[in-house]
Amino acid sequence: MKTEDFPRDIQPYLLPSHEGEMTYRCLGCEKQFSIEKLLYVCPDCGQVLLLEDQNAQRLKDIPGRIWQQIFDYRRMLNIPALKGIYRYHEFIGPVIPLKAAVYLGEGHTPLVEANFSLQQKVGGRFFFKNDGQNPSASFKDRGMASAFSYINFMLQNGGLSDVLAICASTGDTSAAAALYASYLVPQVKSAVLLPHKKVTPQQLSQPLGSGAAVFEIPGVFDDCMKVVEALSEKYNVALLNSKNAWRILGQESYSYEIAQDLDYDLTHTAVVVPIGNAGNITAVMSGFMKFYETGIINRLPKIVGVQSEHANPVYRYFRQPDAAKRRFVPVTVKDSVAQAAMIGNPVSMPRVIHLVERYNRIAGDERTFFIEVSEQEIMDWDLAANRNGHIACPHGGECLAGLATAIAQGVLDSHDVAVLDSTAHVLKFAGFQEMYFRQQFPAGYRIVPKPDLINAPIYVHPENLDKVPTPGRPLGGKDFAHFVNRMAGEIARKLDLKTV
Ligand SMILES: *Cc1c(COP(=O)(O)O)cnc(C)c1O
Ligand SMILES: [Zn+2]
Repeated sequence: MKTEDFPRDIQPYLLPSHEGEMTYRCLGCEKQFSIEKLLYVCPDCGQVLLLEDQNAQRLKDIPGRIWQQIFDYRRMLNIPALKGIYRYHEFIGPVIPLKAAVYLGEGHTPLVEANFSLQQKVGGRFFFKNDGQNPSASFKDRGMASAFSYINFMLQNGGLSDVLAICASTGDTSAAAALYASYLVPQVKSAVLLPHKKVTPQQLSQPLGSGAAVFEIPGVFDDCMKVVEALSEKYNVALLNSKNAWRILGQESYSYEIAQDLDYDLTHTAVVVPIGNAGNITAVMSGFMKFYETGIINRLPKIVGVQSEHANPVYRYFRQPDAAKRRFVPVTVKDSVAQAAMIGNPVSMPRVIHLVERYNRIAGDERTFFIEVSEQEIMDWDLAANRNGHIACPHGGECLAGLATAIAQGVLDSHDVAVLDSTAHVLKFAGFQEMYFRQQFPAGYRIVPKPDLINAPIYVHPENLDKVPTPGRPLGGKDFAHFVNRMAGEIARKLDLKTV
């Protein structure tokens, strides 16, 4: 719909005009820093940063009900820059001019309600939000759209020239960074560091295909992260890990979409997310708080963060109920099918600690929960989900296992409706499904495949059928008719079909 065709009272708000004044704020010493330079940590005390809009107070001058209408009407606009995360421009990056917005089709991923049988099995009503339907097939595209829009803005206003975008990755960050960097060639190039043999072949193919320089490093993600941090401290590179606060801003779109898709009524909503480096849960909490404080949503949803037993530092931290006694201890990770979350020392841990305290304070009661699940539960629930119409990756399976545990522990009650983050597309992790089906999981995963979840192709070649077609050598006439007949008969027998 064209802008002049919208109701008159909404027209002034339809295109974003709010000019924010954004600064980095240090979570350690609370000092503020200008965004004219790319910063990842506080130059004074080394702590991580978050971005703040100094004019955010002005957003509260517009009633929440009007904001709801603005976003709902923006759905009907055909302006590419407002089709992705910047539908929520005023909340995500008000300093980014729309002409600098990089839009590759990210965001606005579907909420798919689970069918009756799966809801019964888990014991509650829930939806998957399929973030695997983003362009590089994971939620990381949300943050990259924001970070690269900022880089593009700096390139356009002369604040930056040739950029080398660099990141460490458990697979999906590099796929997303390389994709968005490749859109901005030739000014932007990218290099990614991956833990050798700890990303899937599909994930490895992505940055290679986008033309990034790909480095494989011995060790696990936490080791890659240290190398990338050393590079970003000493050399002129742009760090694209979620340490980069622009990433967090873009990922807040996930919360805004849930709010909008549920008509801003989050009375009985619980949002379940897997935790790795903890950028995602940081963004999810931050997003809901911004909408709540502006009166756009009526209530802060419950947040359930899920970790595998094999990579559970955040769960361990919050397991201590007395906040004063909590102490963060990094863990040594073990093999996990939730491989993108196989992180023992999450970079965003200080953000999570800070935001959890604020979230519960604003909510007025405890509304953040942390849950641990086994590798077995992750795989079993993941396969169960996908046998019921979903396209969940193991991290989606981790969320579903977490939901089952949360319901069993009474964290969720019977009114709660859960939204589970399927953070990537199932196809990225096809190898784990294959290991399960072939019963070939290395012992370290501690996964024993369940017979009723195993599936395998059945090769059909009836005895005494000598003539079969081969590529380039088709059968003809009677031979072909005989072949079709025998094969159909054999398959019908295996499927126990009745003749009509
Ligand atoms: C990155 C990633 C995670 C973990 O998210 P964090 O922000 O690192 O906590 C989970 N699942 C997938 C598929 C990912 O790519
Ligand atoms: Zn500081």
